[in-house]
Amino acid sequence: MRLGLVEKGSYINKDYPDLTGYRLEVNGYLYDFSQILTETRRRVEQLWQIECPADLLRHRLHFSEQRYFNRMVRNDHYGIFNRHTGAHVCLGLVDEAATVNLVIHEIAHEMHSRQGYYELSDEYVQEGLAIMTEQEFGRRSFDFNPHFTAQQMIDQLLELPDFGSLPFLARWEILSKVGGIVQLSYLINRYTDDHEGGYLRDWLDRHCSGPDEARHLANALAQTSQFYALYNRRLLLRRFVQLGGYGYLNRNQVHFIVRALLQLRELDKRYPDQSLSDLMEQAFSHL
Ligand SMILES: [Zn+2]
Repeated sequence: MRLGLVEKGSYINKDYPDLTGYRLEVNGYLYDFSQILTETRRRVEQLWQIECPADLLRHRLHFSEQRYFNRMVRNDHYGIFNRHTGAHVCLGLVDEAATVNLVIHEIAHEMHSRQGYYELSDEYVQEGLAIMTEQEFGRRSFDFNPHFTAQQMIDQLLELPDFGSLPFLARWEILSKVGGIVQLSYLINRYTDDHEGGYLRDWLDRHCSGPDEARHLANALAQTSQFYALYNRRLLLRRFVQLGGYGYLNRNQVHFIVRALLQLRELDKRYPDQSLSDLMEQAFSHL
């Protein structure tokens, strides 16, 4: 556990086996590390149903006062996770209660890394997972990416009852193994479709001769809709399952549909003000 301080103009790094009993004031905020660490241990036990590993707090959680911290970061001024050194939390921007939320966000990255999935996922999934964890205790708004998009996607997932009503650990198990933003988008589409009655699933069963084709189409849908709000995802899925006149799709037909979905994505970029319904008619009319 390291504490980064600025004393008499010099940047110093102090190592502690444990900061319990230590207090520090930064920018008028008073931090009692006994409280912060006790609450952090309690949260780790509650969320992951394990005893908080001693080495996690001792070797993988660090604090710095703001002036020290600002030397390390670019845009996320509250905390950073480094897979070599662990979780780093900034002191002096928010009060002690909000700081415990910053700690659990960074520890979520650490847990993801300990489970071996952190490096296998992209930054949207990494941040989404940490934001979902932090939101068990409080909500922070992000106006920069990947955090902004990740939070929107997490909000969509939580809004869908088949995912949102699961206990934290079940949600963690699902999300922590997701590889990237397209797979995250796929997951939202799947829960959306389940909630709507499984029309997409039935359509794919009916028209795809094997799982490869079904996956190919579901991925193309996920890619096109990766930045969509839930409402637009529903519009796209409903319009998609109206594509008709097929028995089993042959390879060319799958290719044409995937191309139409890519075209929709291009149209959406080119004409952001045009309604999605109009754009879908343009992209799908020849199918
Ligand atoms: Zn983060």
